[in-house]
Amino acid sequence: MTVIMGSRHVLGTEMITLIDVSVQIKHKMEDALEWFPGGAAGAAMMAGAVALGTYYAATRQKGSPPMFPLDEQAFLEYEGTEMIRTSRFGKDAKDGTFLRYLFEDCRTLYDCFRRGAKESNNGICLGWRETKNKPYQWLHYNEALLRAKNFGCGLVHMGLHPGSYVGIYSINCPEWILTEQGLYCYSMVIVPLYDTLGADACAFIINQAEMTTVICDDDAKINLLLDKAPKCLVRLVHIKPLKPETIARAKKQAIELLRFEEVEKLGSTYSHSHREKPPRPDDISTICYTSGTTGNPKGVMLSHENIVADVSAVLLQMGEHRPCRQDTMISFLPLAHMLERCCQVAMYMQGGAVGFYAGDIRNLMEDMKALKPTVTPAVPRLLNRIHDKVMGNVNGSVVKRAMLRMAINSKMTELQKGIMRKNSIWDTLIFRKVQEGMGGRLRLIVVGSAPLSGQVLTFMRCAMGCVVVEGYGQTECVAPCTLTIQGDVSPEHVGPPLACCCIKLVDVPEMEYYASAGQGEVCVKGTSVFKGYYKDPERTRTVIDKDGWLHTGDIGTWLPNGTLKIIDRKKHIFKLSQGEYIAPEKLENIYSQSQYVAQVFVYGESLKSCVVAIVVPDVETVKIWASANEIPGTLSVLCADDRVKALLLEDITRLGKQAHLKSFEQVKDIYLHPDPFSVQNGLLTPTMKAKRPQLKAYFKPQLDDMYSKLN
Ligand code: AMP
Repeated sequence: MTVIMGSRHVLGTEMITLIDVSVQIKHKMEDALEWFPGGAAGAAMMAGAVALGTYYAATRQKGSPPMFPLDEQAFLEYEGTEMIRTSRFGKDAKDGTFLRYLFEDCRTLYDCFRRGAKESNNGICLGWRETKNKPYQWLHYNEALLRAKNFGCGLVHMGLHPGSYVGIYSINCPEWILTEQGLYCYSMVIVPLYDTLGADACAFIINQAEMTTVICDDDAKINLLLDKAPKCLVRLVHIKPLKPETIARAKKQAIELLRFEEVEKLGSTYSHSHREKPPRPDDISTICYTSGTTGNPKGVMLSHENIVADVSAVLLQMGEHRPCRQDTMISFLPLAHMLERCCQVAMYMQGGAVGFYAGDIRNLMEDMKALKPTVTPAVPRLLNRIHDKVMGNVNGSVVKRAMLRMAINSKMTELQKGIMRKNSIWDTLIFRKVQEGMGGRLRLIVVGSAPLSGQVLTFMRCAMGCVVVEGYGQTECVAPCTLTIQGDVSPEHVGPPLACCCIKLVDVPEMEYYASAGQGEVCVKGTSVFKGYYKDPERTRTVIDKDGWLHTGDIGTWLPNGTLKIIDRKKHIFKLSQGEYIAPEKLENIYSQSQYVAQVFVYGESLKSCVVAIVVPDVETVKIWASANEIPGTLSVLCADDRVKALLLEDITRLGKQAHLKSFEQVKDIYLHPDPFSVQNGLLTPTMKAKRPQLKAYFKPQLDDMYSKLN
């Protein structure tokens, strides 16, 4: 199990309990591998498997060829000394003309939904179920369009107008999309709020965006906003019923409360008085506040064109695997994050259907079984858990390990030939339950938002028997700016640039990355680059230079085939006293590969000559080791045991050596901490990345103690 720590992110907590999701999936994995036999039965099984493998080899299928030669996935342009790479799908990109849209009738997010209605012939659009035992119910496109328009019209009738900013603070549900589309009917702007911001940051955002109105799903969120309600907030719309005391509280604060349906009804009554005013491509569609690890949240302004361009470029790059009107997507990642938003936009643009999880992440597997999605977005954390669990289950048995290896090798060989399927003998024998745990029909997984190990990506491609594409990008360029292409199943890169942008790498001399050597800070220019931070031109200037290049803060390297590989982060580096640079996240990525490590935070100070780390041990593997070595006790007790500490220090040092870390990069001491860093305890960002200043403050006594002994 690994936690890869990195940059800042935004997501709502209700969905961030991905650990819980993984736990659900984990149980499925255990089921899937439970029957793996050992001993004599195992040998017989093994022989059977070999025979079946031979049969399978004789009957394997033919694959489809990639869209173009995989050894040349991007165009290389020269502009002075800069080597800029552009997409092979956007032939005009080399002249600075980037993709804006794919379909003439689809240039705003307002247009997208209408295109979906046409493409699907008013097919199913938004799905939900009340509880885990109920079937999914569906709104069709036209009904969703009408309800959205009514909702927007209701808000306009209450005094909102084109250009108004409206907040939404809710888990993913049909009303989220109805609100969004309702706002677009009148050129209003949607501003998502989410749990991990906390009451102060929510108040800051409402105040900064001068929002009069916020749509909330439940009582708790209404109360959180009432706690710190800024003066500009006059109205809260709620999706679920409220408690009488909440209603009384709002009344006392002179904040109007309305039910979602009340607004819809108002809009339907006055629909003739307020004609729709659809947005233009250049209008702002959303402000996405990113939480960051320090300071106030930054409001990333994205226009309709930004988002349409990005999603269109993704569809282009996906080729025949792109979502289509027969597809159904499961929605459980936070809509406050652009990865989920973009996946949904792609579905609507193509006339597909989106089914929302029922709201309890612990029941996601049941939701998936009921919905049987064909498409899902994913984050590395989730895939890591699935992978680690399966690996953990086979580790104890030679037979199980061998069978899994054979299965993965065999499916990998097929993948390299472009064959992707779920009906091989290995699927039946080994991967069926894993696949069924996610509904059994997945044909496309879109992963991004954080580094993903190549091993995990390959494993997922083999185990799920479906297309798994990895995108890289950031909110400031909507979501992805690169995406792996159809037919390329090699891991350890994030694909070539999308047609909506071009990418160059610029020197970072203090980290010894030079563009001439194909390494440097990833810079993006194109139609997906944001319009600036809301009311913060100074911060905007720190990331977008005078020539329009967005400086991402990520360090990349070009691979010979024109794909990008993310290798580092620019920001979190510091010098040790002897003048050597340390990039703690790089070390964390290496150390977190240890089976004994659940999470790790590497820390160093410029006044010291070495680095140290706080390590949260992996409870299962450490307990297994401890009981094999007759060391009793809970994880807290084990954390205080020198033998356990020695085991972990030795293992991570070994991994460091293996990864050619220099001796000053290796941690010289570790402190074992039994409780995971989490979003709830404020030590992780919502996408499970380290909040470095908070971690430093939290573990100050332990860090000081380690250093006092080392110096
Ligand atoms: P956000 O704006 O919250 O989506 O965060 C974007 C950041 O996540 C990027 O600047 C990267 O540091 C990281 N990131 C996103 N996708 C990837 C990826 N595929 N591989 C490595 N890092 C990624």
